[in-house]
Amino acid sequence: MTALVLFDLDGTLVDSSPGIAASLAAAADGAGVPRPDADQVRALLGPPFPQAFVDVLGHDPATAEAMMDAYREVYAAGGLYDVTVFDGVPAMLARLAKAGHRPALTTSKPDVYAREVLRHVGLDAAFDAGVFGATLDGSLAGKAAVVDLALQTCDGPVVALVGDRHHDVDGAHAHDLPAVGVTWGFGGAAELRAAGADHLVDSPAALGELLEQLAAVCPAR
Ligand SMILES: [Mg+2]
Repeated sequence: MTALVLFDLDGTLVDSSPGIAASLAAAADGAGVPRPDADQVRALLGPPFPQAFVDVLGHDPATAEAMMDAYREVYAAGGLYDVTVFDGVPAMLARLAKAGHRPALTTSKPDVYAREVLRHVGLDAAFDAGVFGATLDGSLAGKAAVVDLALQTCDGPVVALVGDRHHDVDGAHAHDLPAVGVTWGFGGAAELRAAGADHLVDSPAALGELLEQLAAVCPAR
């Protein structure tokens, strides 16, 4: 039985922190507000923008929107290409495909950016089951809504949602899906455990092994 595996992008498949951090600094400059410090940048790697500029940085909605406009300009012009695939991720995806399973992407970044990142790092073919993300106009935002879209679009059982932040765990559990937390990303083991992740893995190789085990007992949908 082929099954879907839903993956987060940033901090799970790719280290996108240099491009996002640089774009956040430029966005703050553009909006005329202080640049986020290192802790704030880390907190911003995962939750959807512009709401995170309100929640994490304490800006009012109008300032958050101004930052969003400045962010997109810099990010789309180059920041989004400043990414590296985590070691072992391509082999893990190849193993899933060989076992007949289908990775799909569920990210809270706009899907147009996610597709461009996947193309840039050569992982687009691995995600032909689907790439799901937010819309640029904000009409679809947040992990649970993105997962909902993926579940409506794709057939077949779902093994788990794999991610690195508590938002991923929350998004999985909103749909009664198992949440697999990867400890090499931006959230870390303590955050993922506190959020109630069903499984934690420390390497892409361990993730591949776990997903095969979970797929073998995955209930039909
Ligand atoms: Mg992430």
